[in-house]
Amino acid sequence: MDGIFDIIVIGSGPAGVSAALTARQRGKSALIITTAPEDSPLYRAERVDNYPGLPGATGAELVEAFVKHAEASGVGIMRGRALAVADLGGVYGVSVGSDFVQGGAVVLACGLARAKPFPGEAEYLGRGVSYCATCDGMLYRGRRVAVVGLSADAPEEAEYLRSIGCEVEYFDASRAKRYAVLGAERVTGLEADGETYPADAVFIFRGAVAPDSLLPGLALAGGSIVVDSAMATNMPGVFAAGDCTGAPYQVAKAAGEGNIAGLSACKYLENKTKEEK
Ligand SMILES: Cc1cc2nc3c(=O)[nH]c(=O)nc-3n(C[C@H](O)[C@H](O)[C@H](O)COP(=O)(O)OP(=O)(O)OC[C@H]3O[C@@H](n4cnc5c(N)ncnc54)[C@H](O)[C@@H]3O)c2cc1C
Repeated sequence: MDGIFDIIVIGSGPAGVSAALTARQRGKSALIITTAPEDSPLYRAERVDNYPGLPGATGAELVEAFVKHAEASGVGIMRGRALAVADLGGVYGVSVGSDFVQGGAVVLACGLARAKPFPGEAEYLGRGVSYCATCDGMLYRGRRVAVVGLSADAPEEAEYLRSIGCEVEYFDASRAKRYAVLGAERVTGLEADGETYPADAVFIFRGAVAPDSLLPGLALAGGSIVVDSAMATNMPGVFAAGDCTGAPYQVAKAAGEGNIAGLSACKYLENKTKEEK
């Protein structure tokens, strides 16, 4: 897969797929970066009766149909978690695990980040807190690490950490509900439902990442990304669509906003090309 795209979309829900399809129709290359289908909240919907043309479809059927449609239209699909978006001066770079891709414009369609960061998580990020086993696992070879697995790929990530020699203590929703990262200079452990587990690192795997931790400086209001009527954010070349821009949390609203964000991203690139001539 080529590492440079016209438009990079984060999230393969209705908003992201609609944005990428629109970009393809305008002749642009598009890449969707997305976690496992099971991490989409829509995947758990038993029936979706208010999306036109597909009465009674299950959420899982819709999620799978959206991705198939995108692939058939020439949209690249990259499985993984986008960890950071960086403005490289005219283009955006996106880290996906240990991979890196670039795009002229970005559409954030990452859904609703339901979980708040754990106490201590932001404080110890980079000092023992990690979201990426491939990037940071080797640093903890032969040492104790706690894994908080809240996404579909978390067991696989924990298995990878074990395979490279980390001593893994695994936590998921069935084992504990409340977590806090403990530390001094660096991480010293994880508190899970009031019990302390010593660890040199805490790996946290969630389906969705809060948008402002993906892209520092992104304007939010009440946790939602602030957008104008063109779905433009406060950052030039960055657009947002779907649940991440706020209520109503609905498939049709997400697809509509994705369409506008895709069109706006294309116009942004076309205007930029004209200005450069
Ligand atoms: C149980 C349930 C039932 C529902 N029923 C209905 C219904 O009947 N009708 C209706 O209209 N709506 C329904 N909804 C709401 C609907 O699912 C959402 O409004 C819709 O899916 C939002 O689409 P989206 O594209 O904005 O985000 P999502 O569908 O949430 O897609 C976002 C995707 O991005 C991925 N992602 C997030 N962060 C990253 C990252 N950093 N890197 C890579 N990937 C990332 C997520 O894992 C997810 O797959 C229901 C929701 C639930 C939970």
